[in-house]
Formats: sequence, C-alpha cells, structure tokens
Amino acid sequence: MINKLLMNGNCPICKTRIKIDTEEYATYKAKPVRIYKLKDKVESKCPGCKKIIVDEK
Ligand SMILES: [Zn+2]
Repeated sequence: MINKLLMNGNCPICKTRIKIDTEEYATYKAKPVRIYKLKDKVESKCPGCKKIIVDEK
C-alpha cells in the first residue's frame, strides 16, 4: 500500500507536517529521505508514524 503525501505537505496517516514548499525549494522534515534520480519522486519516513510516505508529481 502506498501512502501519498497530502497536498498541504502533511502525512496522510498522522497529519505530521513533512514537506514545506516555497517557490524556490522544498524542505522535508523527515529522515531518511530517498530521492529518485530518474523520476520526480521522493520517499520519506514520517517522523510521527514511521511510515514511508511517497511524494510524486
Ligand atoms: Zn505520519
């Protein structure tokens, strides 16, 4: 099962804020963060519920 990051940057499960978007950059408040080099896809481990959350365009 894939847990997709919510549009507002929050975890879909526990609602912890994971991603903060600005016009210039995005900050992920998670560890680890996995950035796929060939796709527009980022996986991060939610610090709240410890689930892997997927962010893709
Ligand atoms: Zn969470």
